[in-house]
Amino acid sequence: MSQSNPLKSDVSLTHPDRLYWPDEGVTKQGLADYYAEVWRFMAPYVVSRPLALLRLPDGIKSHQRFFQKHAWKGMNPHIEEIADPQDADGEKLLRIADFDGLVALVQSAVLEIHPWGTTTDHWERPDMITMDLDPGEDVAWSAVIAAAFEVKTRLEARGLAAFVKTSGGKGLHVVTPLAPKAGWAEVKDFAHGFAESMSADAPQKYLATATKAKRGGHIYIDYLRNGRGNTAVAPYSTRARAGAPVSMPLDWQELRELAGPAAFTLANVAQRLESRARDPWSDFFDAAVPLQ
Ligand code: ATP
Ligand code: MN
Ligand code: MN
Repeated sequence: MSQSNPLKSDVSLTHPDRLYWPDEGVTKQGLADYYAEVWRFMAPYVVSRPLALLRLPDGIKSHQRFFQKHAWKGMNPHIEEIADPQDADGEKLLRIADFDGLVALVQSAVLEIHPWGTTTDHWERPDMITMDLDPGEDVAWSAVIAAAFEVKTRLEARGLAAFVKTSGGKGLHVVTPLAPKAGWAEVKDFAHGFAESMSADAPQKYLATATKAKRGGHIYIDYLRNGRGNTAVAPYSTRARAGAPVSMPLDWQELRELAGPAAFTLANVAQRLESRARDPWSDFFDAAVPLQ
């Protein structure tokens, strides 16, 4: 990947040739190079947010997978520990402040980064809503795209903005920026009601409950990413899955033509970044309004 002014980090990578995605030949160094390319776009979604981290010390084929919300032995000091103000005596949570923090995550074999929908500057007032569209088996990809547009239309009818990204897994995430004003309960209630009304208006297409039995043929509108302490994968984060997919922010126009939820991977992302000078989510925080 090319960048005229590559970001440098003080964090050194041990075993930079260690394969994290062996089938794709993606190494620890390759992952750090990718994040150097996207850092300027990614930073606001991962800096100063409590993080849950999927750590696979020996790469995606390893049997050891840790979904970590707390420090581990030997953790790099660029990954900060911070007390949850609602749980002052509990185990501390994790946060990064800058690119060194992200490289420290790479060094620690963090292959997925899942932030809270708020920053630690205003813990109790979320600054985004994530609608996670989870298609059951037998759902056509075109129906998932249509669902994302339906979510967009309904959010905009409520005066809210809508941004879309691939999950890097099976679906799409529609994300709404919020001016941090409403609290967690209010935001989660809104997301729940939103999913219920979408399901009530088209019960043959959409479900608002996680009951797997009914999911075949339906898209589950997973609103449960929006409670206090819940997380969703960050924009630009890689996924610990075959093919080295990333959760890629899109503009709505390109969604119409998108091949699938894992269309963007570490193998093809450099080409995409070069062909689009602009971050499709550059207006994200400017589009934030309070929930009302
Ligand atoms: P898909 O498109 O496949 O649904 P996704 O990112 O929407 O991808 P998952 O990877 O299944 O969905 O994760 C669902 C949510 O649960 C994520 O947003 C994540 O923050 C959280 N999560 C993921 N892995 C774990 C885990 N091992 N333990 C607890 N929570 C997890
Ligand atoms: Mn999902
Ligand atoms: Mn889900």
